[in-house]
Amino acid sequence: MVLEILEEAEKPLSPYDIQRILRQRGKYLNHVTIYRILDLLCRLNLAHKMLSSGGFVKCNLDAVEGCHRFMVCQDCEAIQEFADEGLCQEENELARNLGFHTEHHLSEFSGLCSRCHK
Ligand SMILES: [Zn+2]
Ligand SMILES: [Zn+2]
Ligand SMILES: [Zn+2]
Repeated sequence: MVLEILEEAEKPLSPYDIQRILRQRGKYLNHVTIYRILDLLCRLNLAHKMLSSGGFVKCNLDAVEGCHRFMVCQDCEAIQEFADEGLCQEENELARNLGFHTEHHLSEFSGLCSRCHK
């Protein structure tokens, strides 16, 4: 049900938003439970936590290689998810040169979507 709510949402949702929507549908879950569910969904790569807003979104990618990342439009707040294995490899190499072993990348691009840029 939480995943369904994330899927229907047009923007990232906070745990409070999710609780409010669940309540409208006649379900009550406390915050700890909602956080646990979100944590699990994120670990399964079914949902992600946005770095900038801290809100949660449903994953929009099928099985692709590379870490899932986001482009966030500053104007209309549209979110585009993407993954690029080559980018991951370049970043791993950069880190290796600095003596760091990378396991995962989190990144978010800020700018304008194609519609707002016109
Ligand atoms: Zn994803
Ligand atoms: Zn935009
Ligand atoms: Zn990566």
